[in-house]
Amino acid sequence: SAGLRPSVFDELESEVRSYCRRWPTTFATASGSWLTDETGHEYLDFFAGAGSLNYGHNNPVLKSALVDYVARDGITHSLDTYTVAKREFLETLHRVVLAPRNLDYKVQFPGPTGTNAVEAALKLARKCTGRETIISFTNAFHGMTLGALAVTGNSMKRAGAGVPLVHTTPMPFDHYLGGTVDDFHWLEHALENSGSGLEKPAAVIVETVQGEGGVNVARPQWLRALAQLCRDRDILLIVDDVQMGCGRTGPFFSFEDAGIEPDIVTLSKSISGYGLPMALTLLKPHLDIWEPGEHNGTFRGNNLAFVTARAALEHYWNDDGLEGATRRRGEMMSAAFTDLTATLPTVSSRGRGMIQGLVFADAAQAARVSAHAFEHGLLVETSGPRDEVVKLLPPLTATDDEIAYGIRILADAATAATN
Ligand code: PMP
Repeated sequence: SAGLRPSVFDELESEVRSYCRRWPTTFATASGSWLTDETGHEYLDFFAGAGSLNYGHNNPVLKSALVDYVARDGITHSLDTYTVAKREFLETLHRVVLAPRNLDYKVQFPGPTGTNAVEAALKLARKCTGRETIISFTNAFHGMTLGALAVTGNSMKRAGAGVPLVHTTPMPFDHYLGGTVDDFHWLEHALENSGSGLEKPAAVIVETVQGEGGVNVARPQWLRALAQLCRDRDILLIVDDVQMGCGRTGPFFSFEDAGIEPDIVTLSKSISGYGLPMALTLLKPHLDIWEPGEHNGTFRGNNLAFVTARAALEHYWNDDGLEGATRRRGEMMSAAFTDLTATLPTVSSRGRGMIQGLVFADAAQAARVSAHAFEHGLLVETSGPRDEVVKLLPPLTATDDEIAYGIRILADAATAATN
């Protein structure tokens, strides 16, 4: 049908587009865990806007807050002027998220994207310490501007732009390569040994679970040791929670299970909850040495996003219902994948909460799984250094039945793709 051949995109849109290659149809509407294309086909969404739709599409609670606000002629855009919507968001973030966790952070609005939040974090770490280098990890993903790209492992994304890993020392990440590489010991040794060539860094930036990097999960003990190592050496710890924050792994912040308190935290993707661009850089108050205007950006005052973000925090984070459901559904997925992979010798699985990965032998197998899933009405993306990992991020609000339905399609797809 016409909907399946969106040739106008091929003619008019840059080749840089990517996800549409896996999903060759034109989507029109969306609700909850489902997208509908213009020919009326429905797709269960296990991608959720790359983790930016943790509360599902057009979540009714968020939608009604937004519609009410727009109907009252609420301000849409305000740079960084004081507005009621921004004040109410800040108060809610403090009351619902930060205060109950005893977390003391000031909130910076660095611009609309996760990349903006990372740029601000890197710049601030360099300014606060007077040091230049940043340590990041192999297969890390932190964003696409020059600074964030310089701490991103993916060489394909860096190479064309000529961005070397200038501010980073690439190292394996805990549990990547089966956890056989003692990267922690390596880092400790390199920092202590002046002959190692590793300059004392301003900061270490880490994802607790690498999303784009292939669902590589750091153990809580490893994160605690990393935090201690940073503290002992006066190195700032930045947790990039752009993809794993806002409940993806269970708790609001993905580092809560490890009991660590990073110096700087980045949030974006699901913070607005409605797919509206919004990002935060959270900083320990003593680090707030920015000069007024030293880091700014036109779109750091998206009041529509403040409204939906506040509604999401009020509705989902005043109690631990969503956290418990996420942990439970995550276990449901991981148990199903353990059973599945027991029958498929070349496939394994890993994850935490509702970020789960199915690891295939190569990119071709993973691509076949994604294509088979699409044909059967399920949207899943691939990730990982060789694009061999099928990455699953259903909305946290997906029902048990929806999760079970998606798992069944994936099981068929994985079986078909590996036979
Ligand atoms: N950090 C992490 C951990 C991410 O997953 C992403 C996006 N995939 C980013 C930063 C960049 O966010 P954005 O695409 O909104 O700039």
